[in-house]
Amino acid sequence: QYMIHDTKYSLVIGWLYPELMSTYGDRGNIIVLQKRCEWRGIEVEVKRLDLRFKIEDLRKCDMLFMGGAQDTQQKIVATDFSKEKGKALKEMVENNTPGLYVCGAYQFLGKYYKEADGTIIKGLGILDLYTENPGDNHPRLIGNIVTQLNAKRYSLVTDGVVGFENHGGRTYLGKTMQPLGHVTIGYGNNGQDKTEGAVYKNSFGTYLHGPILPKNPHFADYLI
Ligand code: GLN
Repeated sequence: QYMIHDTKYSLVIGWLYPELMSTYGDRGNIIVLQKRCEWRGIEVEVKRLDLRFKIEDLRKCDMLFMGGAQDTQQKIVATDFSKEKGKALKEMVENNTPGLYVCGAYQFLGKYYKEADGTIIKGLGILDLYTENPGDNHPRLIGNIVTQLNAKRYSLVTDGVVGFENHGGRTYLGKTMQPLGHVTIGYGNNGQDKTEGAVYKNSFGTYLHGPILPKNPHFADYLI
């Protein structure tokens, strides 16, 4: 047990759609969070929140994680997210529940994701952003990426995170949204404005696969 002044620590990590939203190996982020807690004697439970998960299970989580996927899986998830579920997740985000949302998951927290053929996948509208895939005549944004963080915001031991991006969608942040950081190598949110990801309270959206946490353990520790 992780003891500070004989206090025992435990953490329940909610893993949203582990079967569907894990096309790019983002399950590695859960393994890192679990291990880095266990190594510190923090009792950790990973709660899998699959399709048709119960809202009361979501509410039992102290931290949330959701990985990336192709448009197909994103559409399935969008149909599973009832208004009540969206409201419950929004409440948790507003109450500073720490969360990491990668790529397709990040897009889903925004207003909408417009596919290459123009189909709109409605988002949860929790983050002030939207995503559009400009169509097949535009290249997917793929490759290694380095994001320079606003280090003082996170009191991180380092001010950068590295990873791999692979997305067709271009994300545009609303005026109220803080980016996670700025790309020094790679495309980031949309390959134009040099922003990458988004931060709102303790919720972090990012395009970084890799997975991001094994490649940036300092970020994993910050979330924990
Ligand atoms: N399907 C979305 C896109 O291509 C998200 C991809 C992902 O999660 N890597 O933009």
